[in-house]
Amino acid sequence: MPEIKAPEQVKTALRLLQESGFESYAVGGCVRDSLLGNAPDDWDITTSALPVETETVFQSYRLIETGLQHGTVTVILDGMPLEITTFRVDGDYLDARHPESVTFTRSLRDDLARRDFTVNTLCWNETDGVVDLFGGTADLQNRLLRAVGEPDKRFQEDALRILRGIRFASVLGFTLEEATADSILHNRQLLSAVAKERIRVEFSKLLCGQNAAQVLERFHEVVEVFIPELRPLVGCPQNTKYHCFDVFHHTLAALENIPPLEIPRLCMFFHDFGKPACRRTDADGTDHFKGHEQKSAEIVEPILRRLRYDKHTVKTVTERIRIHDTKSAVTKVRAKKLLSEIGAENYRALMDIKRADCRGKADPHAIDEKLQKMDALLTEILENGECYARKQLSVNGNDLKAIGITDGKAIHDVLDALLLAVIEERCPNEKTALLEYAKYLSF
Ligand code: ATP
Ligand code: MG
Repeated sequence: MPEIKAPEQVKTALRLLQESGFESYAVGGCVRDSLLGNAPDDWDITTSALPVETETVFQSYRLIETGLQHGTVTVILDGMPLEITTFRVDGDYLDARHPESVTFTRSLRDDLARRDFTVNTLCWNETDGVVDLFGGTADLQNRLLRAVGEPDKRFQEDALRILRGIRFASVLGFTLEEATADSILHNRQLLSAVAKERIRVEFSKLLCGQNAAQVLERFHEVVEVFIPELRPLVGCPQNTKYHCFDVFHHTLAALENIPPLEIPRLCMFFHDFGKPACRRTDADGTDHFKGHEQKSAEIVEPILRRLRYDKHTVKTVTERIRIHDTKSAVTKVRAKKLLSEIGAENYRALMDIKRADCRGKADPHAIDEKLQKMDALLTEILENGECYARKQLSVNGNDLKAIGITDGKAIHDVLDALLLAVIEERCPNEKTALLEYAKYLSF
């Protein structure tokens, strides 16, 4: 296993606590990720020092006290904020959401016992090396996620752990140990008590994981607790010559084939949510899904709002779902028309979406050539600075006013007509020619 390479600031903090007579370790995700050879996002420190004692040890440093009620003091060491949390045991959980109280302890074992999965109980310092009290090292080597203690009890205490479990399985590519997996499925309804913001964070990470498709295939019922609209996709037939999967399995294949970023993954996960409601089967048994893009967008917008996604994400994902079935643009004129409607950023996104969508169909590469063409056209249009938007026209509203077109609506319509004429190569994008054309249009 790779060695732990902690930043100097982390080593200093651990040493300062130890020199004052306290136990201190880096713990959780940072140790897990280091041992997997991945660079940790942040380093959490756990210590036997009480918060006031931690504050004394770091009195000459900048401290931030937010989180003090949970025993966390944030210390800024050489520009790096470090969260230092006192060993603690959580009190009783009455509602599968919040512990009723937090009690500090001087026992490392008690602190590690409250953590969710064995691979998240590993801790480390320079003196002791990796400390493993719950079999985390073996599970890490076997790539297994195992609840610490009795799974049912742990998921009933804090139902978010149910979703964290499948999120880690997706992100790390680990397998859920059988008893833990059974318990996740069995206790899934408890997730309905968990705050939507917390669910959203885990769900997005799950979607962006390397194993998102496999995990969703096995644990889709967990997701259905907070997105019941997923249910009708499972087993929804697509008897068309283009498809070889039901809507759900098509969705999983599409998801796997888009880069692991939040917005693209959300687009693919949700792109066909409207299909079950739009499915019509004709006399020869062929299915049709006319209008499903619009229907998907209508279904998905309230889901994203409910999960408290920010406005930009809701708007972008919904818009891209609405256009996901747009035909590939394979001529210059069609490419410019599409660009004028959706802009360059959505044009690029549409190519990724169409590629991923096609990968989940009977002929996964059917569209490759068309997409190459679409991409080449975009490059050419942008490189040449060819006009596809109103603001690129060589005339503007004031120019039209100067030739006597004064009505606001008329200006708008004439500019649109001029843009179309330029895109369709009926008029060059030159001021004199455009004004001639405008006069011809309006008189
Ligand atoms: P990442 O930061 O990559 O999402 P992580 O394991 O560091 O993964 P955090 O949410 O940063 O996750 O939590 C840090 C540690 O705190 C975890 O490794 C785990 O030991 C513990 N932990 C976090 N959330 C819970 C929870 N809901 N129940 C029990 N332990 C938890
Ligand atoms: Mg972390």
